[in-house]
Amino acid sequence: MAKVIAICNQKGGVGKTTTAINLSVYLALSEKRVLLIDIDPQGNATSGLGINKHNIKTSIYDLMIEEIEPSSASIKTRINNLSLIPSTISLTGAEVELVGTMGREYRLKKALSPILNEYDYIIIDCPPSLGLLTVNSLAAAGSVLIPVQCEYYALEGLSQLVNTINLVKENLNSSLSIEGVLLTMADFRTNLTSEVIKEVRSFFKGKVYETIIPRNIRLTEAPGFGKPIELYDKNSIGAHRYQEFMNELLGVKKDITQEIPSVNNAKTNNDNELQKISEGEIK
Ligand code: ATP
Ligand code: MG
Repeated sequence: MAKVIAICNQKGGVGKTTTAINLSVYLALSEKRVLLIDIDPQGNATSGLGINKHNIKTSIYDLMIEEIEPSSASIKTRINNLSLIPSTISLTGAEVELVGTMGREYRLKKALSPILNEYDYIIIDCPPSLGLLTVNSLAAAGSVLIPVQCEYYALEGLSQLVNTINLVKENLNSSLSIEGVLLTMADFRTNLTSEVIKEVRSFFKGKVYETIIPRNIRLTEAPGFGKPIELYDKNSIGAHRYQEFMNELLGVKKDITQEIPSVNNAKTNNDNELQKISEGEIK
């Protein structure tokens, strides 16, 4: 049975899609059978994998609204073992269309049930809202992965997200849990980043991954070329860190006692150097 992970944070631009794409790709390259579901009307996971949205015939919209067979909505990607259920802008209307329908929160769960044994992992890239599309994702998922950007107000809205997760757990999906919290876009040269890391670790206790994704220009560029980081620049720090993150998620050997990176310790200096290299400051 597939492990279904919803990647969720109602805050925009925190790295949900980047994480969804690259986690899915590295899982697939580790011989796992993976389905990535793009449930965001922006369709960034779809275009980020190089799929031309104009050529899409069936999408997540048809799966949830028209209740078509999931196999006819999924497409193979150029990565072995990785399929995608794409999204298009038509999904924008779905939340309104679903209002008033029976079992509207369970549309995705119902759609996925016949294919759960075809995959090892189903990764859902959620939109930046806590609306019905996200609620459908949380109702269908076993766990939630929360990317948190190392920025001012990183914790803002996270209580609301946790409340929503708890509400879904109480009312729709009692087995839902928090898979983990992934810190993203860290700039180890700033004190702000270490402050945010400390705050997030104290808010989520042992749920925060040891692996931290740095801000890396190659990760910013890759979607513009329709490529995951492994195909765009597999030697970049972004590629290395997403691979490490996948290993941590799989091995789940979290060493939460390890020192929190600060601007002064060795690990951070190492990251700092790597970051400069990746940003082109050091050749
Ligand atoms: P939305 O809420 O709009 O769906 P999101 O949470 O899915 O956004 P992404 O689309 O993954 O966030 O990332 C936002 C932007 O930041 C994108 O342009 C992406 O390429 C870039 N980005 C994501 N992670 C990194 C990173 N670690 N380093 C540099 N740029 C990044
Ligand atoms: Mg996104």
